[in-house]
Amino acid sequence: MKIGIIGGGMSGLIAARDLQAAGHTVEIIEKSRSVGGRMATRRINDGQADHGAVYFTVRSDELKEEVKEWQTAGVVQEWFVADPYPRYVGLNGMNKIGKYLAEGLDVRLNEKVETITAKEGSIVLTASEQLHYDVVILTAPIPQASELLGGSSLNLTQADQKLKEYIFEPALVGLVELNENIQVGEYGLLDQDLPDGILKIVNNEDKGISKNPILSIYMTGEWSEEWFDREDKALEEVVRLTIEQLGDLSIASKQLKRWRYAQAKQVFKAPYYKLEQHPVWLCGDAFLEPDDPSGHTRVESAYISGKRLAEHIIRFAQS
Ligand SMILES: Cc1cc2nc3c(=O)[nH]c(=O)nc-3n(C[C@H](O)[C@H](O)[C@H](O)COP(=O)(O)OP(=O)(O)OC[C@H]3O[C@@H](n4cnc5c(N)ncnc54)[C@H](O)[C@@H]3O)c2cc1C
Repeated sequence: MKIGIIGGGMSGLIAARDLQAAGHTVEIIEKSRSVGGRMATRRINDGQADHGAVYFTVRSDELKEEVKEWQTAGVVQEWFVADPYPRYVGLNGMNKIGKYLAEGLDVRLNEKVETITAKEGSIVLTASEQLHYDVVILTAPIPQASELLGGSSLNLTQADQKLKEYIFEPALVGLVELNENIQVGEYGLLDQDLPDGILKIVNNEDKGISKNPILSIYMTGEWSEEWFDREDKALEEVVRLTIEQLGDLSIASKQLKRWRYAQAKQVFKAPYYKLEQHPVWLCGDAFLEPDDPSGHTRVESAYISGKRLAEHIIRFAQS
């Protein structure tokens, strides 16, 4: 089958890889200039900073096995162990994991899918040109996916329309480059007893991914919601709260990253969803197996979702 996958984050990359390995022709269409999605890393002068997923944990045997291979390939390393799971990070930033997974896959970067149509037995995506597939997988965060579906001419049933009810919270992340390094927690991470509004502070140099000390300051969902549309003031406030916690800082540069859809507020209790009247499936971090041991969206839930959907489509193609 010819399969189009909208989105080159963890779930889309894993689905693509497994479907291609099973003999299908797969193409990923990604609106950004790089793969990785919310596993994101930004270059800042000579250094770099993760500004999406900070690290990932592993509860499933499948991801455990995979991580061993990623470690051998020099893509992932253990950061530290806590309660009781190791925290894994991309060796040179989280988005290197995405880049590694995309090797050997057909990816169309900088192409946003604007509409989805059903036409003469195929599903047509409108991006820079019309792309025809037998099956389409949509991996954007559910609110973005519903928006895309809502603006398309597919027949959506009442069950399909219910996807609109899934809400994600935003995240604001301050990226503050320092002139000199500063101790942030034992491993370069502070995630407790922080001023109201700050969720985590990470020092990317101590995390081992940057030549320069760059702080990634992750704000809570509630704070980010309140400050989302006040970009300049929000950055000043992030810096003020950080100084309140860490003391005076010698700042070389600062910027703010805004994620409109960072984490799902409520999750879908199945690893994927199929539109009732079309060969279009949704998957991603908010689609959890019913017995998911953590219950929240994360890199591992995106991985498992992509994997389960690929297994399902491989069976579907054989039936
Ligand atoms: C600030 C922040 C901190 C986080 N911290 C952690 C953490 O510490 N640990 C952890 O495990 N998880 C964390 N997460 C969550 C983790 O990053 C996600 O669960 C995971 O990366 C999601 O993968 P995904 O494939 O489901 O979606 P995504 O990574 O969002 O991939 C979807 C892709 O679809 C693309 N796309 C969307 N619409 C279109 C379109 N119309 N056309 C083409 N492409 C499109 C997007 O550009 C994106 O690349 C964090 C997330 C954020 C934002």
